[in-house]
Amino acid sequence: MTQVAIIGAGAAGLAVGQALAQRNSTPKIYEKSLSVGGRNMTRQIEGCVIDHGAQCIKTPSPALLHLVNKSATSTRSPAYDIRLPIWVFNASGVITEGDPELNAEPKWGWHAGVNMLTKTLASGLDVRMGVNVRKVMETGNRYPYTLLNAEGAILAEADAVVLTPPGPQTAEMIAVSVIDQMLKDRLLAELSQVTYRRCLSVALAYARRPAVPWYALLNSDRQHPIAWLACEHVKPGHAPEGMGLLLAQMGHAFSLEHWDEIDKGTYGKNGPLPPVLAEVHHHVQALFAADLGPPLWADVHCWRYALPDTTADFERLNSTGSGLFFAGDYVAEQGRVHLAIESGWRVAELIAATRNG
Ligand SMILES: Cc1cc2nc3c(=O)[nH]c(=O)nc-3n(C[C@H](O)[C@H](O)[C@H](O)COP(=O)(O)OP(=O)(O)OC[C@H]3O[C@@H](n4cnc5c(N)ncnc54)[C@H](O)[C@@H]3O)c2cc1C
Repeated sequence: MTQVAIIGAGAAGLAVGQALAQRNSTPKIYEKSLSVGGRNMTRQIEGCVIDHGAQCIKTPSPALLHLVNKSATSTRSPAYDIRLPIWVFNASGVITEGDPELNAEPKWGWHAGVNMLTKTLASGLDVRMGVNVRKVMETGNRYPYTLLNAEGAILAEADAVVLTPPGPQTAEMIAVSVIDQMLKDRLLAELSQVTYRRCLSVALAYARRPAVPWYALLNSDRQHPIAWLACEHVKPGHAPEGMGLLLAQMGHAFSLEHWDEIDKGTYGKNGPLPPVLAEVHHHVQALFAADLGPPLWADVHCWRYALPDTTADFERLNSTGSGLFFAGDYVAEQGRVHLAIESGWRVAELIAATRNG
């Protein structure tokens, strides 16, 4: 039986694993962190549920909708359509109604956070946590590929390897891998086109909830310090009764400028907020045009690779016939969980076709 090794347990890697498992294969997934989901991440802080990465998930196909319904049953965490609309704002902070067609599409949230979707994909799969893969090595052995860590220790042997970290991290891995030079050049030519935006994601808790007719605001011209501002308290289960829970995902320029000033963590419970978070609060308050009162606390996550700006071509990366495959949001047209999942499903089909061919 073909042994498949998948690097990364984000939406794409788990989707590859789930689709192969449905075809009676037993892939192994290697994940460097201690949890599944990657950027589809949920954190529990101070009685709140915070979706620091993806906020809500679209289901433009029956297969994706089926997965959402399955997740609600298997995780016992209700999934719901966040019906309130997304509006837009510009560099000057002028707010206008969003696209009615886009707002008519369901956008899913979960009582216990968006990570319920990726937990569902992970269910029953062989996921090995805390395993940081450094490189892939071609061998002349029974298995054509070996995965190695930074110390050169062998982590796995496989017939096919699926790489799913964000494009620049995948490029770094391929650059140090021991594979045919022409294949490496071909892959790096494609992967080197991929660029990502950074994002400081800041959750702010307030003693009360601002009354607005929208769920979230999106900065349409990418010129404002804030890229996305969401009222997370409208998601059932995400904040205690009456508490305002806002999530400001900062734009690339702001995030880059302040990157070294703040680390992931919770701030302001026992004292004033660090200056960069006080600035975020100031920008948030300006968009609401209201006095929100002082934040009770703030929780930060730092995404070095948040969303792809430029992407790579799925076909070019996945048609080398080498046994190396690539999935993730950077081979889709934009950074979205459902697109990362679909890229994983496509790769699983290619692997199955190779095996049967
Ligand atoms: C701030 C923000 C807001 C977003 N908002 C939305 C939204 O509202 N809706 C939406 O649909 N999408 C949104 N997205 C995008 C969405 O989260 C991503 O497109 C999607 O989760 C990408 O999945 P992926 O599997 O391609 O990559 P990832 O989720 O990045 O998964 C890659 C995995 O590989 C692991 N990995 C990396 N290197 C190694 C290694 N060397 N060895 C082993 N494992 C490794 C990582 O730890 C990670 O778990 C948002 C993302 C961010 C950051």
